[in-house]
Amino acid sequence: MKMQAALWYGPEQIKIEEVEVPTIGPDEVLVKIGTALTCGTDFKLFRQGHALLVKDVPSPFGHELAGTISEVGSAVEHRFQVGDRVVAANSAPCDYCFFCDRQQFNLCENLEFLNGAYAEYIRIPAQIVRRNLYTIPDFLSFREAALTEPLACVLHCAERMALKADETLCIIGAGTCGLLFTQLAKLNGTRVIVLGRGEEKLNVAKELGADHIISIQQEGYQEEIKSLTNGYGPDKVIDVVGQPHTWELATELVRKGGQVWFYGGCPKETKVTLDTHRLHYGEISCHGVFHHTPHYFAKSLEMIAERQIKTKPLIGGEARLSDLNQIFQKGMAGNPLKIAVIP
Ligand SMILES: [Zn+2]
Ligand SMILES: [Zn+2]
Repeated sequence: MKMQAALWYGPEQIKIEEVEVPTIGPDEVLVKIGTALTCGTDFKLFRQGHALLVKDVPSPFGHELAGTISEVGSAVEHRFQVGDRVVAANSAPCDYCFFCDRQQFNLCENLEFLNGAYAEYIRIPAQIVRRNLYTIPDFLSFREAALTEPLACVLHCAERMALKADETLCIIGAGTCGLLFTQLAKLNGTRVIVLGRGEEKLNVAKELGADHIISIQQEGYQEEIKSLTNGYGPDKVIDVVGQPHTWELATELVRKGGQVWFYGGCPKETKVTLDTHRLHYGEISCHGVFHHTPHYFAKSLEMIAERQIKTKPLIGGEARLSDLNQIFQKGMAGNPLKIAVIP
């Protein structure tokens, strides 16, 4: 059987091609994609490839998905049946390596990333079937469910940050993850300053509860953030952009004794310059945080199903798989809201 799938051939080159529908092993599941969501990571991959995600060229891509099970391997547990509506994570830990032993599942040495959501069907590998595949309630749309993966990443970081109600958090970046951070922080009662680019997204941040929105393109934004925090700076700053200069900015904005969280991954082999004096005498602590774990994936789906998170404002439109090239070309200029891609 044949299907349509998007393949990445190199920087800014994707083609929609007819390929074989994947065949599944006894521990695997075949899912007919209902919706795939575009993600900042996909835009990065489109422009420059991706160290972890691209193994061979041409490479399938897309990793936020929900759909319907169309085939179940003979050895898969009974909880999955053909016709079930499901959401799958883009990875799952092995449960036996050094890091899994230490419960640091997101650092698992055998994380196998699932790519290929921009297609009609996708094969879900055994590890993900076992640990990170969930049926979704009937009332949840595919596009809502497909937000489980990005929210799981944000939830993982937000819980490690242990946000408190009497704190001020500055979020650098008003893309989807920045908007998800805004919502989680507001659920905790934390005061939120969103520093971003693009009026449209900043307004969405405001709509989702941000106490202050500030354009990074506006002169004097650093002073403005200072004045909003009694001259000290925010208690916590998170970078959601993933550029060396925004990482550096995060360490400059935070107050003495505050925490910086690096959520956005920078391009490979980049370095940052830090003010050692400020880090030491100001006791700035910096934390890297990456990806999600099965615990957060499950919790994320729960929160979406309970409608604790507003999903509608995060999705900017809908398109067909055949329009994918256009979407990515257009998205090059900024970091647009998500698009729901329907095969
Ligand atoms: Zn993503
Ligand atoms: Zn492992």
